[in-house]
Amino acid sequence: METTETNGFATMGLNAILLKAVDAAGMIAPKPIQQQAIPAQLAGQDILGIAQTGSGKTAAFALPILQKIITIGDKRKGKTARALVLAPTRELAVQIEETFRTLAKGAHISTALVLGGVSRIAQINKMQAGVDVLIATPGRLTDLVRDNRIDLSETRWLVLDEADRMLDMGFINDVKKIAKGTHRDRQTALFSATMPQEVATLAASLLRNPVRVEVAPQGTTAAEIKQVVHMIPTRQKKQVLSAMLKDETLSSVIVFTRTKHGADAVTRILEKDGYNVAAIHGNKSQNARQRALNGFKDGSVRILVATDIAARGIDVVGISHVINFDLPDEPESYVHRIGRTGRNGASGNAITLYDPAEEGSKFKAVERVTRMRLPMADSPVDLSSLPARAANSDQRPPRREGGNSGAPAKSKKPHRGQPAGGKPREPRGEKIWSNDGGAPAQKRPFRRNKKGFGSKAA
Ligand code: AMP
Repeated sequence: METTETNGFATMGLNAILLKAVDAAGMIAPKPIQQQAIPAQLAGQDILGIAQTGSGKTAAFALPILQKIITIGDKRKGKTARALVLAPTRELAVQIEETFRTLAKGAHISTALVLGGVSRIAQINKMQAGVDVLIATPGRLTDLVRDNRIDLSETRWLVLDEADRMLDMGFINDVKKIAKGTHRDRQTALFSATMPQEVATLAASLLRNPVRVEVAPQGTTAAEIKQVVHMIPTRQKKQVLSAMLKDETLSSVIVFTRTKHGADAVTRILEKDGYNVAAIHGNKSQNARQRALNGFKDGSVRILVATDIAARGIDVVGISHVINFDLPDEPESYVHRIGRTGRNGASGNAITLYDPAEEGSKFKAVERVTRMRLPMADSPVDLSSLPARAANSDQRPPRREGGNSGAPAKSKKPHRGQPAGGKPREPRGEKIWSNDGGAPAQKRPFRRNKKGFGSKAA
């Protein structure tokens, strides 16, 4: 079996009770934000997180807080909260509390919700004995603190969730006052989907040497990165990739693959076809990775084949194209991947090879996270003109999401740009592929469902 590169929660040093709860919640592998933010917080660092709902950010701040509270044991003072999470809306606060409860299952952790729009009495009563984790909206919390119903002086963990929305909703002064009332040696995490100046200023005033974690990097707008999707059956992707790379306008290219095995297989084929290529993934030694990266940076290597984990932190200027050889397991990785091109205001291109028969749900997840309809290529790849290749026999049997025929599965509903029956559109032009496709991706209205998850507006 191929394995994707993931570090388990177990390697993060989390308590056995938490690991059990994480497992029971169906969280098998940490999401990227969790991989980055949990160890840093366990080490005592503040966090500046740029992440949206759906990224897994709640567990990214809840697990370290729970771990620390479990470690200290049971003493609490009346009216106090050991940890405080501020959220802009009631719905989000409720959802955060649910996550805390789920992840604290089996541990003796008390939680409370303090929200506007509902009776104060129950909230005041709940706070009487003090709680471990208080989740609150800023307005009502400010009222109860002012009335001496809640004492924040023992609060050593503070989380601001969706800080940009809190500021949009006019909570800036409440947030500042609340933060000021907490313990001076507190640890703070601030999460925001966007980082306008106001949020950056607030973060600078509340966080101490924060670790910046980002799962949806800014600068991935359609204006800067031209995105295009080509529908290609998995078994033909390597040939298509090789044909695409004949075009020398693809001058500096990162090819992303989901697995290490995939990265090696792609690298082998491209080498065989005479391309100047290097691979970078978790099975390579640090030296080999550095050598590959240096070659890519100085231009002696034109094509770098990488897995998502190995690519984290790669900051190379002048990458002309990112090619997604396949779609990532974590939809946020798509944003990371394409963010490697079009940096510092330069234009960039992101090409995705997508097999609807195998990758339908991953594709939908990417569209959900990016809140975009990814544009299909205007000129489809002419698969019939590709050379037959014996080397393709090194392709593992494809893992099917549905159906098991070698041809694209017949889907009931045709995908955009795809006629009924699931077949790619008929080739029209002579060119094997075109890099001109891809109208700017359309931002679509997005609305939140009851649980706070985003869903596309119809
Ligand atoms: P959030 O961004 O915190 O709102 O989380 C979005 C969704 O992802 C929630 O339904 C979580 O239960 C789920 N989730 C968070 N972390 C993981 C994980 N490591 N594996 C699977 N699902 C997760």
